[in-house]
Amino acid sequence: MTPDRVAMTYRGHDRTYRELSERTYRLASALGVGRGERVAFLGVNQPALVETFFAAGLVGAVFVPLNARLARPELRFILEDAQASVLVLGEEQDGEGLPGRHVTAAAYEVLLASGSPEPIDEPVRQDDVCLIMYTSGTTGRPKGAMLTHANLTWNTFNLLVDVPLAHDEVTLVSAPLFHIAALAQTLVPTVLKGGRVILEPSFDVERTFDLIEAERVTVMFGVPSMFGFLTRSPRWAGADLSSLRHLLCGGAPVPEPLIRTYQERGLTFLQGYGMTETAPGALFLGAEHSIDKAGSAGVPCFFSDVRLVAPDGSPAGPGEPGEVYVQGPNVMTGYWRRPEETAKVLSADGWFRSGDVGVADEDGYVRISDRLKDVIISGGENIYPAEVESVLFGHDAVAECAVIGVPDDTWGEVGKALVVPAPDAAIEPDELLAYLDGRLARFKIPKYLEFVSELPKNAAGKLLKAHLRQLYGHNLD
Ligand code: ATP
Ligand code: MG
Repeated sequence: MTPDRVAMTYRGHDRTYRELSERTYRLASALGVGRGERVAFLGVNQPALVETFFAAGLVGAVFVPLNARLARPELRFILEDAQASVLVLGEEQDGEGLPGRHVTAAAYEVLLASGSPEPIDEPVRQDDVCLIMYTSGTTGRPKGAMLTHANLTWNTFNLLVDVPLAHDEVTLVSAPLFHIAALAQTLVPTVLKGGRVILEPSFDVERTFDLIEAERVTVMFGVPSMFGFLTRSPRWAGADLSSLRHLLCGGAPVPEPLIRTYQERGLTFLQGYGMTETAPGALFLGAEHSIDKAGSAGVPCFFSDVRLVAPDGSPAGPGEPGEVYVQGPNVMTGYWRRPEETAKVLSADGWFRSGDVGVADEDGYVRISDRLKDVIISGGENIYPAEVESVLFGHDAVAECAVIGVPDDTWGEVGKALVVPAPDAAIEPDELLAYLDGRLARFKIPKYLEFVSELPKNAAGKLLKAHLRQLYGHNLD
């Protein structure tokens, strides 16, 4: 046990494990929620979020974190769907128009003081649901994935097989805890090992460099774009990054140039692929293969299984695209109150259909090539937009890009690239298309390429392909 070690640092203020556990017991007893009841939290990373998560779990209740970037109607949709009995509001959050009993940030400490710090001895089973986390809603309305104590525990075991976290890690958590990666890949494993978590309300490039240097951060998780921001900062060249032990990167394909830029600083990404429904780890690429298997998301996590299924239902062989299926003790029990949606993705023997397309190489390393819904079929050939995007992204003039399918009389569908040019780039669309020539098979080269000022993204920062298709999918020659 590590009662006097620092569990959490927030805005320069430390809290020990003893304080964290006392506060959690107080909150659990004061909230007055019972087994299975949903406790929602609205806010960015802060101690109250962590305490609410642990307090709900202690009494067998279910934590429902809400994405603080969502608009009111989206929040209302989720709160009503989850039928949350309590909504804990983080700092600067306003509960206006949101259903359920509210605990405001101002009332939070008073509530805590009214609770008992004595340990609670509520029997909680490992297959009790402890978290309903809504998916980010890229492909439609968010769905509440029901995750159990066992799901999160096994995900942690999966992670620890690949990442030997020590008891003295200093983990910077600036990715939002209302998404599964930060919660399950950084907070939970660090606390399990007795390390220290530095909570940051949001990701900020300057703060990140300050904290890495001042706090000697050892572990960081980020989506690729966060790691990209760091390399473009004037601080990058001179920063002291010597404390960093493990850089976890995932949630989207990791561009190879980014991997190399970090490699040149002696820093190796641990890459992963996963989703809310699998708590989240499914594939993992260890540091030793970060370069020779660049572009792949790795092999199945130790306690889980992944297979690729061709469109006709047969196993996809090496080099053949197939839908990614995941099985294991980390796979959710289903979507909350959506039995039909659950039945579509979860088979009786526990295989979860991800809706993503992957291709394995001869050694079994899987590259996530796209989402099933995004595949462009042109003249009978499948084009995976993510592949085209990653090649385009290799050009310096490209800040962001997305490829969608547009109708075509001859081919059925052809590719159209939307490119946000880098700030000072002097380049014409034709030059970019010429750049693709020779780097991609002819049929994969988009027929159209248009410069745009921005790409539509959802609150999780993920590209909204359906929205892009609405915006740009119709204009023909
Ligand atoms: P929704 O299911 O509501 O449409 P979502 O799938 O974006 O939203 P998440 O569970 O947050 O919600 O994201 C998981 C998805 O992110 C995966 O299914 C996959 O498409 C993508 N993803 C995650 N990791 C990687 C990776 N390493 N490479 C490529 N894609 C990834
Ligand atoms: Mg999804």
